[in-house]
Amino acid sequence: MRAEIIALGDELASGQRLDTNSQWLSQQLADLGIQAFFHTTVGDDLEAGTAVFRQAVQRADVVVSTGGLGPTADDLTRECLAQVGGVDLVQDEAVLAQIRALFARRGREMPERNVVQAMFPRGSRVIPNPHGTAPGIDLEVPRIGRPPARIFALPGVPAEMRDMWKASVQPALAALTGPNGRVIRHRSIHCFGAGESAIEAMLPDLVRRGRLPSVGITASQATITLRIAAKGSTPKACLAAIQPTAETIYQCLGNLIFGEDGQTLQDAVILLLAQRRQTLATVECGSGGMLAAWLSSADPEQRAFQGGLVLRDPASQQGLLKAAGNVAAANQAATASDPGTLAAACRTAFRTDYAFALGPFPPPDSPAAGPAPVQFALADATAVRLHSTPYAGHPDILLERTVKEALNFVRLTLLGADRTASR
Ligand code: AMP
Ligand code: MG
Repeated sequence: MRAEIIALGDELASGQRLDTNSQWLSQQLADLGIQAFFHTTVGDDLEAGTAVFRQAVQRADVVVSTGGLGPTADDLTRECLAQVGGVDLVQDEAVLAQIRALFARRGREMPERNVVQAMFPRGSRVIPNPHGTAPGIDLEVPRIGRPPARIFALPGVPAEMRDMWKASVQPALAALTGPNGRVIRHRSIHCFGAGESAIEAMLPDLVRRGRLPSVGITASQATITLRIAAKGSTPKACLAAIQPTAETIYQCLGNLIFGEDGQTLQDAVILLLAQRRQTLATVECGSGGMLAAWLSSADPEQRAFQGGLVLRDPASQQGLLKAAGNVAAANQAATASDPGTLAAACRTAFRTDYAFALGPFPPPDSPAAGPAPVQFALADATAVRLHSTPYAGHPDILLERTVKEALNFVRLTLLGADRTASR
C-alpha cells in the first residue's frame, strides 16, 4: 500500500511556516508498515488543491491531508474533496449541533460562517475532533479497475491532528492492513571520525538499492548515521531481521561507532566514565562552554561530569594555574594557554580522574594559509595526552564539529584506542 501526504496552506507553500505535520505522519504511517511515497505541499487555491488530490488518488492508495478545514474563505479542503469525489457537499446536522455546543461551552455564539465546518462531501464519514471545531473527513474515491483510494483529511493544528490520527485514522488503517499487516522498524547506528564516502567504502555492499533490510546513510554535522530498516509481521521479527546487518556494520566500523538511536558522543563519554566510576572536569578557552553544556545535559544525575571552566583571557587562565598551585607556570604568560598545562591544573583544582582542556582556538581572522589547528589535552593521574584538529569548514558548524572532535578524542582515549603520543 502506497501513501501520499498533502499539506495545504499558503503559509506552508510560501515558506513562512515549516510543515511538521507531514514528517510526523510519515513516521506514523511507517510504524503501520505503510510507506509514504510522496509529500505534496499546496497553497490555499481551489483549482491547485483539487488537482493535487486528483493526482494523489491515482498514485497512492491512502492519502492523508492536513490543513484547510477551518471556517474561513481560504479553507478549501472540503470543496476540493467534493470535486475529486464528484459529489456535492451536504450538511451534517449532528456535527452542526456539536459545533454550536462547543461555542456555547465557551460562552460565545457561533458565527454563521462556522456552518461550513458541518458540510461534508456526500458519502464521506466524519472524523471526530474532540478539541476543535474542525472535524476531519474520511472519503473513498472510486478508481477504474482497482479498489478505491481512501482520503483522510485532518485539520492543520498539529495537536488536534495528532489526537485525531491516534483516535480514528490509525485504527482505520490498522484494520485496512489487517492483523497480518506488516510493520516497519528501524535501527540507527551513529559513527564519528570518518566521512560519509569513507564509511560507505569500509562496508560491503549494504547501501545498495533494493537490499533487505535496507541501509541508508546520512551525515549531520560530521556525525554519520547508518539507518537499517526492516519490514515484518511483528516489531520483534523486524529487529531480528536487522540484527545480522547491524553485526556486519559493527565488524567493519569498530570504534568509529559511538552509539545508536539518538545517542550522542557526550552520552557515550558519560557512559564510559560512569561504567568505570570515574570523573571528568573541563576547561575551555574559545568554545564558550559548549563542551560543558553538552556534558551537563548528557549527565543530569551528575554521575561523571563534575564541572567546567570557561577561561577566555590569559589572566583567567593564569588564575587557574595559581589556584592549582602551579606558580612557576602561572608566572609565565606563554604557558598559560597551553592545553596540557591547563588540563593538568584543572584536574588538580577539581580533584577528578580526568580533566580535559579545549583550546586555544585560532583567531577568527587567521590567514587562509592552510587550516590552523585547535589543540586539546586530556590529563589523568599518569599522563597528559595532546591532540589537535584542523579548524576549518563551514562556519555554521565549525564549533560544534570541533567539540565533537574533542569528545571523540576523550571517548577513544577512554577506550584505550588512542594512538597519539603521550608525554
Ligand atoms: P488550518 O487547518 O489550515 O486552518 O491550519 C491551522 C493551523 O495549523 C495554522 O496555524 C497552520 O499554520 C497550522 N498548520 C497547518 N498545516 C500545518 C503543517 N503541515 N505543519 C505544521 N503546522 C501546520
Ligand atoms: Mg490554512
